[in-house]
Amino acid sequence: MDSELRSQAARYVQLLRRSGKKDAWLPAGLTRRLPGPTDRAAVAQPLRARAEAISHLPSASTSSPKPQSAIRNPIQIPEGTKTERLAALKKQTSACTICPHLAKSRTQVVFGVGDPEAKLMFVGEAPGADEDEQGEPFVGRAGQLLTKMIAAMELTRAQVYIANVLKCRPDMPPNTSGNRKPTRDEMEACLPYLRAQVAVIGPQVIVALGATAVEGLFGPQKTPISRLRGTWLELDGVPVRPTFHPSYLLRNQNLTEKRKVWEDLLAAMERLGLPISEKQRGFFLKA
Ligand code: URA
Repeated sequence: MDSELRSQAARYVQLLRRSGKKDAWLPAGLTRRLPGPTDRAAVAQPLRARAEAISHLPSASTSSPKPQSAIRNPIQIPEGTKTERLAALKKQTSACTICPHLAKSRTQVVFGVGDPEAKLMFVGEAPGADEDEQGEPFVGRAGQLLTKMIAAMELTRAQVYIANVLKCRPDMPPNTSGNRKPTRDEMEACLPYLRAQVAVIGPQVIVALGATAVEGLFGPQKTPISRLRGTWLELDGVPVRPTFHPSYLLRNQNLTEKRKVWEDLLAAMERLGLPISEKQRGFFLKA
């Protein structure tokens, strides 16, 4: 078995073990040669080595993020149209119990929404309470702002695709409100579903909304989102534009912060070859 496959299998065994699954389904002899459940370093090291091998787009102005996308995606997608393949993937995702605590606490899996042929994809962090209830990403306050941002691009939600790194709402202690940041384990467990969505849809540009989305896609970052935004990264060959999360803009109504996000969206539009009017170019500039 080559080292990449071995490492990938090891990661899966770890996830399954963490979720309480036994190793009985693995081919005889495989479990013996794989790192044990607590041998994280042995699994992480080859992951890092592969991450180093990924190249960035020529236009990328930073080299700090380490994409984890070289790992072969273990999710099986059947043949068919994009709509059929996404529907099959949604069915698989909806039955996921890799994170037993999330499978137990969620109302439903929040898979994603939009055009299966979309050229532009938005990736956020995780469903909140509204999304968990309605089964659609970005429908709460932050989602309403995202919808306005999309409208400012002269697009609709139906013309793009919107998904999150994590498909389940991160569980919260009883009788508490608010949201918590997904853990590394949760994001790593869920990333193959997002990468499968990207593989089916084949967007030309992904906009990553916020530091946690970037972390979910590329692993923990030393560079803050304030310096990652304005640059291009790459996931599975697709250009990724990090920007601030809409909830940051809800907290910080400063025109300069809105302009920064808008400049990221303008860059995405340019990359997509979308028409941009003079009026659009001037949005959120001081008078
Ligand atoms: N709603 C989502 O679906 N994702 C986020 O990241 C935030 C709110």
